[in-house]
Amino acid sequence: MSAMIRICLSLLALLFASPLSAQDTPASGFDPDAILALKGLQLLDQRLNAIGYRLAEANTPYCPRKAAQTGLLLHDIDQYPDPAVARFALGFDTAVTIIAVAPDSPGATAGLLPGDDILAINGVSIEDVPADDPAFAKEPVEYRRIAAVNEMLDKVLVEADATLDILRGGERMKMTVASQQACPSRFQITVSEDRGASADGKIVSVTSRMAEYFLNDDEFAAVVAHELAHNLLKHRNRLDAAEVNRGFFGQFGKSASQIKSTEIEADRLSVWLMANAGYDPQAAIRFWTRYGKEHGKGIFSASTHYRWKKRVRLFEEERKKMAATEPVNGKYAPPLLAGLD
Ligand SMILES: [Zn+2]
Repeated sequence: MSAMIRICLSLLALLFASPLSAQDTPASGFDPDAILALKGLQLLDQRLNAIGYRLAEANTPYCPRKAAQTGLLLHDIDQYPDPAVARFALGFDTAVTIIAVAPDSPGATAGLLPGDDILAINGVSIEDVPADDPAFAKEPVEYRRIAAVNEMLDKVLVEADATLDILRGGERMKMTVASQQACPSRFQITVSEDRGASADGKIVSVTSRMAEYFLNDDEFAAVVAHELAHNLLKHRNRLDAAEVNRGFFGQFGKSASQIKSTEIEADRLSVWLMANAGYDPQAAIRFWTRYGKEHGKGIFSASTHYRWKKRVRLFEEERKKMAATEPVNGKYAPPLLAGLD
């Protein structure tokens, strides 16, 4: 549970302890804790989506491989264990709804809002998208339809703007989302008791527990930029091609050193990505120092990652390189992206 949700819950406990509201039950009839938990998760998703979009968009000139970026985060009702609560808390009237719209993104410019249901993309109804498309068999079953919908939207946007039919407050409307190519990646919060973040080549995931640690968006951006760097540098492909064991045995020998080299690259690139998006690269040092001191064991003692003091040294080296680089339009060309195809 995130700090934010816990604060919300303790406020709620106070509220419900007062005699005036003691007998009140929420009009929806749903457990208020369950509703607040979903609202808290949505806030985290909105924050991550905004930070991820800003990093992906700001670094577009340096990404040789680009993809459609709408700034929209779509969710499927099937992703939620209790669909009735999700419908009430997040505004699902159909299967697929907008959970987050990044500021200054094509989705925001189109006028789209969280809670808008997607009915159709360029006239193709979402109802016709199978809920368990075998083309997405690698995804858990509850994520297959949303994967298909995201791909449908991406394909349209490669060529031209997309027309979305949406449902807002019972009214059907058409909205046009501009085609905009930027650095590839999607961004999502995964609900987990573990602190962590990951990058699978396409999606950057940050766990709900990890988000407890971010004191501000710059620190949040430090972790997102590190994971985005893994995706931009195609580290997953590189490790798979070298048949590196990412599991327990990956902590030893050759696998460990290959994983460590990708971690060092991701750290190095992250501060450039942050600076170009207007985040304070110093936040990477503040965050990893605090986090490293508190998590001295665990991942920081693993042979796959540098200990935090060495990581801080990497960030400082990159900041010096950046200071010696001539910015173009206020941005610094990251050396690690220069040689990519
Ligand atoms: Zn990493």
